[in-house]
Amino acid sequence: MEKILNQEKLREWVDMLDDCEVYAPAFADSVWNYARVEAGTDIDLSHTNTIGSVKEFVFPQREVFFRFEKKDGVPVLTATLPDPKPTVVFGVRPCDGRGMPRNDTVFNKEFEDPYYWARRDKLTLVGLACNQPHSPNCFCQSVGGSPHSEDGLDILMTDLGDRFHVKGITVKGVEAMERGRDAFGAVRDGDQAETEKVHDTSRSHPQRPLGNLDAIPEAIRESFDSPLWADMAQHCIGCGICTFLCPTCHCFDINDEVISPTTGEGERVRTWDNCQFPDFTMHTSGHNPRADLGSRLRQRVSHKFLYFVENHKTQQCTGCGRCITECPVGIDIVAVLERVSQS
Ligand code: SF4
Ligand code: SF4
Repeated sequence: MEKILNQEKLREWVDMLDDCEVYAPAFADSVWNYARVEAGTDIDLSHTNTIGSVKEFVFPQREVFFRFEKKDGVPVLTATLPDPKPTVVFGVRPCDGRGMPRNDTVFNKEFEDPYYWARRDKLTLVGLACNQPHSPNCFCQSVGGSPHSEDGLDILMTDLGDRFHVKGITVKGVEAMERGRDAFGAVRDGDQAETEKVHDTSRSHPQRPLGNLDAIPEAIRESFDSPLWADMAQHCIGCGICTFLCPTCHCFDINDEVISPTTGEGERVRTWDNCQFPDFTMHTSGHNPRADLGSRLRQRVSHKFLYFVENHKTQQCTGCGRCITECPVGIDIVAVLERVSQS
């Protein structure tokens, strides 16, 4: 399904999704990030890429698996499986959208994660094509994507100035468009050509090049014992920003948090973990197989460009560039891959 939506009709469409929780990018504290759209407020889709990614809608930073307590000396468990309202997220950049099928693969691999899928099944992603790269660190095209990739999105909107071209990609996406049908108009002569022109122009903007993508896995494998990794990681402070903001990083830890030692009340909690933290691979024996910064940088890069490729035939990176832009010491995954490839 393809339709035209005049810019001033966007609010009308959102109002027709009144049984859903609607999110869209909002500018606050000097960054764009997804925020709940309250009734009657306007959506501003002039955003750059958001600081946080849409993975947070399906894999929150902290979530409770179940609660436990002791009643009459007997342990009692209370389920906390989420049952969210249908959720529609507007303004998803295509690199974020491409993260979602990669996350789906991970959370459905050996075990179908019910917490992830309870949210995922009710999530509709309304993408917005980039008319130009939003950061000098964008490299979506170098990893097989594009500024108008449909991969992982339910709807793709393209900004044509006074109106949007809106394409329903999945059943969920078409349903969301049908809910707002009165807001839409038909695609007229010239709209399609204008949409293609916007896409062509956005693809022609320069992005960070990555060299030969197919040769990268072997280059990483061959450099496993290279001193390059220690050299490239020497300024890393292990803050974890690179993985927490990544649309595809998904490592987590599970802990029991005791609320009351007397009643035995507590929660089993999943929280994000991070391969750049020094204790990520710490064994109970005290031995840490990745005790140095270089081995941890190597792990992050290898997971994305070697192990994930071996296991799933695609990179675990969508080229959004957040890990480069937000790293406080300037560690740059594209430059790292270039050096490894040339070593
Ligand atoms: S990496 Fe590509 S899709 Fe993502 S913000 Fe940049 S141009 Fe858009
Ligand atoms: S954001 Fe930079 S400094 Fe922080 S862990 Fe990642 S690479 Fe290291």
